Amino acid sequence: MPKPAPRPELPKPYVARSPETPQIAPLRVPAGPSLFEAIDRIVDDTLLKVRSDLGDCTRCKLHSTRHTIVFGDGSPKAELVFVGEGPGADEDAQGLPFVGRAGKLLTQMIEAMGLQRKDVYICNVVKCRPPENRLPEDDEVKTCSPFLFRQIDVIAPKVIVCLGAVAAKTLLQTNRGISQFRGQWLEYRGRKLMATYHPAYLLRNPNAKGEVWKDLQKVMAVLGLSPKKGKSA
Ligand code: SF4
Repeated sequence: MPKPAPRPELPKPYVARSPETPQIAPLRVPAGPSLFEAIDRIVDDTLLKVRSDLGDCTRCKLHSTRHTIVFGDGSPKAELVFVGEGPGADEDAQGLPFVGRAGKLLTQMIEAMGLQRKDVYICNVVKCRPPENRLPEDDEVKTCSPFLFRQIDVIAPKVIVCLGAVAAKTLLQTNRGISQFRGQWLEYRGRKLMATYHPAYLLRNPNAKGEVWKDLQKVMAVLGLSPKKGKSA
């Protein structure tokens, strides 16, 4: 009788660890080739090339209602990158990310960390405003996110902070709710990733600011930052 074939080893879910959070629950990664593997790093890529490749983009339906592509803003050598979900009305009008009410709160958070906006890089998963500020749809995220991946590869930050579920789900390739992994150190392509609440959520739920500040303090510890005196988000 032929010997039964050995059972194939199942791939282990990744577990990111850090001194602050020694035990992190693994995220369930979808079966099939990972989007990360499908999109190789581009040699000698730059933000200018990424922007140039994006062009006057009409790759997804969001192009038909936008006024301005909101590519990203900040230092191309930032150690810290914030990723939101998509531009709102103010951003669409000005062509800059996080300049409305939620953006002002993000600026306060950055300053409370002892930084200025020019020290970090801020961008979104989709570069065009979804109508009525709805969430970006799956096909829009899928079409636009490769440009985000390239931005992150070029900047090569020490830490990525995902602002809200859309950014976290896009970079982590998970469908789990953000509350299940918010505040934990995770990993995106070998970089430390922290998911926290979107500033727009904090405007609606100010009680959650303390949780976000705790998350940002973990980021500050990794980056060796001291909080600005008398300021917390
Ligand atoms: Fe292009 Fe992204 Fe805008 Fe869609 S959201 S039109 S993919 S830039």
